[in-house]
Amino acid sequence: MTKVNDNFLKLQKSYLFVAIAQKVKAFKEANPSAKVISLGIGDVTQPLAPAVIEAMHKAVDEMTDTKTFRGYGPEHGYAFLQDAIIANDFKPRGIELTRDEIFVNDGAKSDTGNIGDILGKDNTICVTDPIYPVYIDSNVMSGRAGEIVNGLWSNVSYMPCNAENNFTPEIPDHKTDIIYLCYPNNPTGTVITRERLAEWVEYALRHNSIIMYDAAYEAYIQDETIPHSIYEIEGAKKCAIEFHSYSKTAGFTGVRCGYTVVPKELKAIAADGSEVELNGLWERRQSTKFNGTSYITQRGAEAIYTPEGKKQVKATIDYYMANAKTMRQTLTGLGLKVFGGENAPYIWFKTPGGMSSWEMFDKMLNEAHLVCTPGVGFGPSGEGYIRLTAFGQHEDCLEAMERIKKIIKL
Ligand SMILES: *Cc1c(COP(=O)(O)O)cnc(C)c1O
Repeated sequence: MTKVNDNFLKLQKSYLFVAIAQKVKAFKEANPSAKVISLGIGDVTQPLAPAVIEAMHKAVDEMTDTKTFRGYGPEHGYAFLQDAIIANDFKPRGIELTRDEIFVNDGAKSDTGNIGDILGKDNTICVTDPIYPVYIDSNVMSGRAGEIVNGLWSNVSYMPCNAENNFTPEIPDHKTDIIYLCYPNNPTGTVITRERLAEWVEYALRHNSIIMYDAAYEAYIQDETIPHSIYEIEGAKKCAIEFHSYSKTAGFTGVRCGYTVVPKELKAIAADGSEVELNGLWERRQSTKFNGTSYITQRGAEAIYTPEGKKQVKATIDYYMANAKTMRQTLTGLGLKVFGGENAPYIWFKTPGGMSSWEMFDKMLNEAHLVCTPGVGFGPSGEGYIRLTAFGQHEDCLEAMERIKKIIKL
């Protein structure tokens, strides 16, 4: 019989969102008249910017004429989008990149999951805890995570992120080959300072490690001192791959577009001891397994960088950040310990009175008819925390805060 990839059988079931859905369903059946509000939405809710819609309509019309029709595009992405990315996301921050260092894709999840294709199986991995699950599961699938012992993977080092270290992990005292960092962070909504990020770059350069930097939420940064890209740190081009996404930036969760930066200077070692440029390997991997993002989508993404596009996209981010501010103020006013929500669309708060994440989830659902996400679902260090997202409607957010005020007495 044909054999399966046994690594897939090692994957742990993702109980979190299934368990939440079951509890919400049971509650609604028992309380059919209750108006349940979700503060757990992990998806954007506001429509695409008019400038994006207009650009996409125009691109569709081009498809109707043999003279302007587009078939297969460059696997790397169209030059018009790469140029807009370089000119807007990097040049103003003093970062020089060339077109062939930008790989346009169908979103950050694909590339954060696929990037391991070009790296050896026996590299060690380091992740923050709590974490976006893709980083670990993709390494389990490729056999790089090792074996699971008491819920932790044997080849993975976990860096706890908690209130004590302000949700930025300590620099490890041992060498690891691949480090995943995501800032602004999902799920904690916290950021990393330039100084701390520079320490990570220094660590990676010293150990010849590679940092996988997920910048999916950089557009939410409000504080000017916080870096938007790891390449703002000197030397990072020699040790980091960076993932960007238009999903949270511009509501592209359904449209699908993002890009990955693989600098030419970034090298890793081959079995024969020679140093190899990863840019060339990723280029080969993409042109074999990926056939590009649609022309229509890339025209839509390009429009985000026009003056109107920028204004419209910012208005939507401001809308979500107003929700975040409302939540932060209310919860802080109740005396809760609240993190995030200032440079990210996520609020992360400590449950009152030492309740577990799930106890607090049940209390919010049963007493306030609110759905949240238990922090423990993102990793052991998330126990005792709750994640709220700012992606809902503002009226719902206001109502949710009124309800929370009634159930939390410290
Ligand atoms: C939402 C999200 C992404 C973006 O994923 P897409 O595939 O681009 O939609 C990437 N990283 C993190 C941590 C996210 O939360």
